[in-house]
Amino acid sequence: MDHFQYSNGRLHAEDVAVEDIAAVVGTPVYVYSTATLERHYTTFAAAMDGLDATICYAVKANTNIAVIRTLADLGAGADVVSGGELRAALSAGVPAGRIVFSGVGKTPDEMAAALTAGVMQINVESEPELDVLANVARSLNVRAPIAIRINPDVDAHTHAKITTGRSENKFGIEWTAAHQVYARAGAMPDIDVVGIAAHIGSQLTDLEPFGEAFHRLRDLVAMLRADGHNIRTLDLGGGLGIPYGNEEAPIPSPAAYADVIRSTVGDLGCRLILEPGRLLVGNAGALVTRVVYVKEGATRTFVIVDAAMNDLLRPTLYSAYHEIVPAKEAPADAETRQVDIVGPICETGDTFGTGRPLPPVAAGDLLIMRTAGAYGAVMASTYNMRPLVAEVLVKGEAFAVVADRIPVETLLARQHLPKWQGETAGSVSTEPANGPLAKAK
Ligand SMILES: *Cc1c(COP(=O)(O)O)cnc(C)c1O
Repeated sequence: MDHFQYSNGRLHAEDVAVEDIAAVVGTPVYVYSTATLERHYTTFAAAMDGLDATICYAVKANTNIAVIRTLADLGAGADVVSGGELRAALSAGVPAGRIVFSGVGKTPDEMAAALTAGVMQINVESEPELDVLANVARSLNVRAPIAIRINPDVDAHTHAKITTGRSENKFGIEWTAAHQVYARAGAMPDIDVVGIAAHIGSQLTDLEPFGEAFHRLRDLVAMLRADGHNIRTLDLGGGLGIPYGNEEAPIPSPAAYADVIRSTVGDLGCRLILEPGRLLVGNAGALVTRVVYVKEGATRTFVIVDAAMNDLLRPTLYSAYHEIVPAKEAPADAETRQVDIVGPICETGDTFGTGRPLPPVAAGDLLIMRTAGAYGAVMASTYNMRPLVAEVLVKGEAFAVVADRIPVETLLARQHLPKWQGETAGSVSTEPANGPLAKAK
């Protein structure tokens, strides 16, 4: 359920007509709804009632600081996977004591930033990482609170690109190696072993893999405690799926997910850490785009819009489905026809939907791609030298630009001609004076 609805024939985000946003900010533009973010967070938090659960929003789903702040104001912590996300979470006002740092490739600088900030926990994904973290902690004269990410080797039954809990994935350590790796970590004076972490994948539409993984974690807690480790936290990751509008079976509710948690790991006396990303922000966002041309092909009709795969990568990256609706409500008896909705980029993959039934649309009309709040703007690029997409947050009757459109002038200003091509004002050549290219001058 979200707060994008027709009212007086025009699609609104809460009380603001999306065409009013488009008129002021231009298109394409992401629009987020505060009320929807709040609703998703409070529903999820209520489902965890009675559990000792800390909800750490996985900010990689949507790293806009206004989105993070909305959730932080409700009590959310953050799960971050880079030094940049750590900074975003801190600048959005998430207390360091509610931040978890995950990721397979943390650099010493990122570790130092996390330890200096005083994050709640660092989720270590390999033995080499453990060694580097111990060194960084020693140099800062602190003990690093860690969980080790365990790969429970369950099949999440989701898209291959977003399944992360199989033994062949790059994430975490094999669960069969846990005994030995924990023994090493436990013996390190600069490391404080506090818990276990797992995250088996994203957009799971079935609770069974969660149940299987959480059972394995339960066994592991018992085993590691028997080994003498003081396991206090259990990080269950994120991954609960959301409805995009094309699924055959209903998506499990947060309440049903919470029941799986209760029945598997609810009685271990661990502080549970939950890392929902998509679930909190997916339905709270939409991508608003304008029709540029309607092109009648030999066999198909193409609706060419001003958003492209650089603005919303999910359809081409994951074959993801986004519901696409017009900003102007069609009469209930309006005829529809099957069209392909495509962007202007020179790639066949730049397609948002094929064979979609749409009422008649014309150049200049607005279309809305729904459920684009997660893994949308964060994956945007400037491919084809296109401006970086703008983002807007709505609250009731108010809206604000929360990420500027980055114009082509700014993109050009960061590029420079090297000296040997005739340096332009302000450009910098990083070529060493006697470097391999010096002869080319
Ligand atoms: C991506 C990720 C999440 C969030 O996944 P969602 O499917 O968006 O809920 C949580 N934890 C970790 C470690 C992740 O990498």
